[in-house]
Amino acid sequence: MTLDFADRVERVEPSATLAISNLASELEAEGKDVVDLSVGEPDFPTPDNVVEAGKAAMDAGHTGYTSSNGIRELRAAIAEKLRGNGLDADADEIIVTPGGKQALYEVINTLIDGGDEVVLLDPAWVSYEAMVKLAGGSLSRVDLSPYEFQLEPALDDLAEAVSDDTELLVVNSPSNPTGAVYSDTALEGVRDLAVEHDITVISDEIYERIVYGVEQTSLGSLEGMGDRTITINGFSKAFSMTGWRLGYFHAPEALVSQAGKLHSHSVSCAVNFVQHAGVEALSSATDNAVEEMRVAFAERRDMLVELLADHGVDVPVGDGAFYMMLPVDDDDQAWCEGAIEDAQVATVPGSAFNAPGYARISYAASEERLREAVDRLAENGYL
Ligand code: PMP
Ligand code: GLU
Repeated sequence: MTLDFADRVERVEPSATLAISNLASELEAEGKDVVDLSVGEPDFPTPDNVVEAGKAAMDAGHTGYTSSNGIRELRAAIAEKLRGNGLDADADEIIVTPGGKQALYEVINTLIDGGDEVVLLDPAWVSYEAMVKLAGGSLSRVDLSPYEFQLEPALDDLAEAVSDDTELLVVNSPSNPTGAVYSDTALEGVRDLAVEHDITVISDEIYERIVYGVEQTSLGSLEGMGDRTITINGFSKAFSMTGWRLGYFHAPEALVSQAGKLHSHSVSCAVNFVQHAGVEALSSATDNAVEEMRVAFAERRDMLVELLADHGVDVPVGDGAFYMMLPVDDDDQAWCEGAIEDAQVATVPGSAFNAPGYARISYAASEERLREAVDRLAENGYL
């Protein structure tokens, strides 16, 4: 039997980040000791009180479907959290999703079809491109690498890339894969262009809580951005809840009612007891756990920068998230394959983020494992 696959699925590749981490897991299953710096996943347990809240919700029988957009208690808590970010947010403008990824998927598919133009700032996280292609959009890309991945000096390039034909711009600060946190001046520059050309902007703020010595600004809080910004966030990174699958988006109510159709016809709702755990995660009871993780990531970043400098490698240092772009050979794919085979160190090729010549390191790993990774890369001639 011949299976005739849909064009939209055939035009995308599997997620490169997940593919490498799957490969690392396979090698580990074969008994190899792999230092896995590929997938972006905090290496801390979910805070105890959140786990307890999830268990208690299960025991209390919160195991059925919820209202499609999410339980009101959680949407209200999210709206309150977003008001703290300076957004004018209401519970009815939020959809709770199984992960931030699903939130992005729903928003992109609600806004984009038939060649609509979407602008990405490169390097950009793998799944934006795939989601836009799945939706049938066309991509226009702004390369930030000549500016050490900062947006500010690239505003002229962004101005060149956008026009009245641009439907959507995706901004991700703190950034995956560079760790860049855009300054207010840079975000105001984005705002001016978005307003001038009447562009809708997705602000993916999933790494919001992971910043070092700088403040993250929510794009939707800037004047003129409230009704054109869709804010994406989630629980995976801030609360080390990747496997719970919980995220959300905030958008104007008209978009929420359109996206709600996609949501209700696909996932129905996010998992009931997980949503209850989400309410606990957003309470101040997790502040210490979140801060401990943030401090640990900051120390690891600084240590890694020093270790690489000892080997004569300079890396652009971002002020957020837990990623770093390591300059490698032009053929970054071959470099990453070699590094995993010869040194058993897993990283993601920069090409996956449209940044050839780099490998992305996730430093959400213990200091010991990070040292081990640098030693192995150096011993095998990769640094
Ligand atoms: N946005 C970015 C930039 C990410 O790196 C991720 C990675 N997981 C997500 C969104 C989605 O995360 P999740 O689905 O786990 O909430
Ligand atoms: N976002 C993380 C990463 O880039 C997790 C994997 C994924 O969802 O792509 O590694």
